Amino acid sequence: MIINYPEVAVRELIDEVLENYKKKNPDICDCERCRNDIMALALNNLPVKYIVTEKGHIYTKAIFDQIGGKAQVIAALTAAIQKVHKFPRH
Ligand SMILES: [Zn+2]
Repeated sequence: MIINYPEVAVRELIDEVLENYKKKNPDICDCERCRNDIMALALNNLPVKYIVTEKGHIYTKAIFDQIGGKAQVIAALTAAIQKVHKFPRH
C-alpha cells in the first residue's frame, strides 16, 4: 500500500493539537466536518512524502523522523485550526 507520511502524522496529532487549542478557545467546533477541513488545510501546507509499505502499519516515531520532526506538523495544524475557527464552513 502507498501512504503519505504527513497524512499519518496529521491524523496522529490532530486530537492533541485540537485539545490544546480548545483549552484557550472553547468555542471552536470539532465536528467531523471541521476536523476534515483542518486536516485538508494542514496537509496542503505540508510537503508530500509518499512511501510504499508492505506491512500495513508504520511506526509513528519513524514518520516524524522522516518528515523532519513533529514541530512543523503541529505548526501546520495550528494554523489550519485558527483558519477554521475564524471561518467555519457551516
Ligand atoms: Zn464543525
